[in-house]
Amino acid sequence: MTMLEILGPILEIQEIDIKLIRLMRVKLERQKELSQIEMLRVELHQQLNDKEKEIVEYGKNIQIFEQKIQDNAAKIKKLEGQQVNVKKADEFNALTLEMTGAEREKVSLEQKVSDLVDRKVMEEEMLEKIKESLKSSEASSIALEKEIQSSISLIDEETKALKTQRDDLILDADPEVLQIYERLLRNKKDRVIVAIENRTCSGCHIVLTAQHENMVRKGTNLVFCEHCSRILYWLESAALEGSTVATKRRRRRTQIER
Ligand SMILES: [Zn+2]
Repeated sequence: MTMLEILGPILEIQEIDIKLIRLMRVKLERQKELSQIEMLRVELHQQLNDKEKEIVEYGKNIQIFEQKIQDNAAKIKKLEGQQVNVKKADEFNALTLEMTGAEREKVSLEQKVSDLVDRKVMEEEMLEKIKESLKSSEASSIALEKEIQSSISLIDEETKALKTQRDDLILDADPEVLQIYERLLRNKKDRVIVAIENRTCSGCHIVLTAQHENMVRKGTNLVFCEHCSRILYWLESAALEGSTVATKRRRRRTQIER
């Protein structure tokens, strides 16, 4: 059995593995998109909660100041009552002074309440806006999530089918070479069995020596690229001619040259 006959099934496995790696990357991307949508939703809900709490706080403060206004009104009324019964001028004047102070406090309290009410109204308007944007983004994000989830399940299906194909191909593969290949693939996450093209390793694109090329051409041993450690094979071999791998390889080469 020549090296190429040994590599044949593993090259097919490699094409499947490359597809699997791509699918895994796309899946990870899509999962990232899903978590970003979820994060945005959580953020908007948080904003909504914060706004609601703020409004409740404003409400409480308004109540506190309204109570103060009531207390102040009662104080003024009491002072007025006292003033009626006062006979001495200095006592009368002292009460007048106290009443003036209470009146001034009333004005300032009323101003505070009015400010708080204005701000509460503003916050309530903002709350409505957050609710609206939450509603519209919720609808569009649910649609987007559905689309992403269905694309993920397509990826899962495709992955499953490819893995079944791979399991079948493994039966024809040389276990020892397969193990070497899998180790290289884990490191590079890219094609690790590559053709020599114009005496160049098509993995790292470094030119090989004529001697090295001859070793690969002979095909009696597993030959690794001296520069990138990929397994090399001779492209123009009869064993690969017409096979799917050879055509795919050529197609890839023309793409690179363009
Ligand atoms: Zn190389």
